[in-house]
Formats: sequence, C-alpha cells, structure tokens
Amino acid sequence: MVDIKSMTLEELTAWFKEQGEPAFRAKQVFHWLYRGVNSFEEMSDLSKALRQKLSETCFITHPVVARKQQSALDGTIKYLWELGDGNCIETVFMRYKHGNTVCISSQVGCRMGCAFCASTIAGKVRNLTPAEMVDQVLFTQLDSGEPISNIVLMGIGEPLDNFDTVMQFLRLVNHPEGLNIGMRHISLSTCGLVEKIDKLAQYGLQLTLSVSLHAPDDETRSKIMPVNRSVGVKTLMDTCRRYFQTTGRRISYEYAMIDGVNDADWQADLLADLLKGMPGHVNLIPLNEVEESPLKPSRRVAAFQKRLEQRGVTVTVRRKLGGDIDASCGQLRRKAMKEHSPQ
Ligand code: SAH
Repeated sequence: MVDIKSMTLEELTAWFKEQGEPAFRAKQVFHWLYRGVNSFEEMSDLSKALRQKLSETCFITHPVVARKQQSALDGTIKYLWELGDGNCIETVFMRYKHGNTVCISSQVGCRMGCAFCASTIAGKVRNLTPAEMVDQVLFTQLDSGEPISNIVLMGIGEPLDNFDTVMQFLRLVNHPEGLNIGMRHISLSTCGLVEKIDKLAQYGLQLTLSVSLHAPDDETRSKIMPVNRSVGVKTLMDTCRRYFQTTGRRISYEYAMIDGVNDADWQADLLADLLKGMPGHVNLIPLNEVEESPLKPSRRVAAFQKRLEQRGVTVTVRRKLGGDIDASCGQLRRKAMKEHSPQ
C-alpha cells in the first residue's frame, strides 16, 4: 500500500500520470489530504472509480488524540497521538507573540541517551514517516482551530537520525499547495550528529539549526550526552562553524541549566570562548525535572546569563510554557507508558 500523504505534489503527479490519470487529479487529492480527510470516499470531486482504485492501492494516515492537556497558565496544548500501529508520540502547541508554534516529534522514542531527557529512557522504537510528521502539524491545526505559522523539530526523537524523512517532511510543509510554512519559520534541533549537520548544510536551507550543546567541556558533555563520547566538543564546534560558512545561517545553541553540572562560572567562560568569532545565540533552558533522573534545575541561570553577556555572547532564557501539563520533551508519553505497564 502507498503512503499517499508522504508524497510531494510532484511525486503524486508523476505517480498519477503513470496510472493514466491527469495531473490536476493529483492536485485535487493533495488538497483533500491537507484538509485532513481520513478516507478517499470523502474526496467528492473524484469519480467513484478513481476513489475505489485509490482506496485499494493507498492509505491515508490519521493519528487519533489519545490524550490532550491544556495549560491553565498560558494556553499551551499538549497532544499525545496514537499512530496507526498503536505507538504514541507527542506534539505541543504553543502561543507566542510571533505566531502559533508546534513542537513536533521525529521518532517514536530516541536512541541518543541524554541523561536529562524523558524521551530516551525506553530507547527508540522506530522512525516516523513523513506523513506522520506532517499529521502532527495538520491535525494540531485542525483540532485546536488555530492557524500554525511556526514549526520546531524539538519533540521526541533526533531529527537528524531520521534524515531523509525529515527532508521530505520539510518539502511537504513548505509546499505552497500544502501547509505553506516558510523555511525561516522552521527550527531543527539536534544533539550534534556532525556528519548529518554537514549533509544538511549542503541543502542550504533557510531554517534555523539549533544545536543542543548543554556543556562546553568534553568531560561534562560526555557524562550527560553519550553522543559526545565519539565526537567531542571541538569537532562539533568546527562543524557548526562550517555550517555557518556554508549556509550563512546563525546557529542557536541550546543549554539546559543543570544544578552543579554545567552551571559554573568557568563553564560560562569556556562557552563564550567556543563561540568567539562565530555569530550564534545561546538559549538557556531551565531544566525540566524528569522523575527518573537525579538531575536538578540550576539556581544560577541569571548569573550564568550575565557572565555570558559580559563576554559578548547573545543569550536568551527560554520562557517556560505548559509547566502544569508535562509539556517538556517526552514527559507525557513516558507517563502514559508507565500507566500502561506495571513495572
Ligand atoms: N534530539 C534533538 C531534539 C529533541 S530535544 C536534540 O537533542 O536537540 C529538544 C531540546 O530539549 C534539546 O535541546 C534537549 O536537549 C532539550 N531537553 C530534553 N530534555 C530536557 C529537560 N528535561 N529539560 C530541559 N531541556 C530538555
């Protein structure tokens, strides 16, 4: 069976041609898919014979809401979606001044093993498909009734560990006949897979790359991020420099502030040194506590910020949204998993 929503309009058109169908039919189908229909039966301007043929050869993905939590504090909505095979993933809808933003997942689980992250505790189950990534934007928009203008790839999973799918997803959401979301409205966050960052640079996309740095020294970074054990901070920063030189796009560095681990003055100084001569921006994130982890939020966020600023680094502190609804990475899925399995 063909996963029809994972195809671009161009691919769909070529495929329709092969089947002896005119190009405009592909466009009709594409439009229906982006209206969120769940069956070919609903595509009322297609002939009955074509609808029949499509339903025999293709399927349309449509996640169902397994749980939905809305923050009383700021209107953030967290969705736990159940996919066709029963796996669950999360999407977070956030309201910002610059527009409504969805934070979407790229994998079911994650294999990167970061010590502070709830998504990775039970490992990676599988990659998502392009359609399953598009659906998170599409159905969040339909369910919330709110238009979405920005996407961040910061939910469950490591987007660059599912590279081809993520590239196809970007083509799909960027398409003017689909969701039409501009690349400058999309951020992709990675724990730092250097070969994939180099590969991404070759596409020259206008999206914002966020690198989850979380520590400026190898000893600390390797402790909290296993990915650092094979490729150290220096190689990562050299790769980031190359990325900037190739794309002209500034990188945003994520830094979750952890008590007594990465919040010392010397680490702020080292971080400032790493960023010298490279336009970039540091985003300090107050750590969200994860039940299974002993790591605690830092009490030195303001001091750390000040020290970086004194050394000429551009810094913001991420505002906490959805603090009352487990809105941080992988927390809701984790909670649902624990409720379903007694151990
Ligand atoms: N795998 C990608 C994207 C998903 S995580 C990456 O590593 O960047 C999105 C961001 O949330 C990353 O910066 C990640 O390090 C951070 N994060 C994960 N768990 C967190 C927690 N408990 N508190 C604060 N930030 C967290």
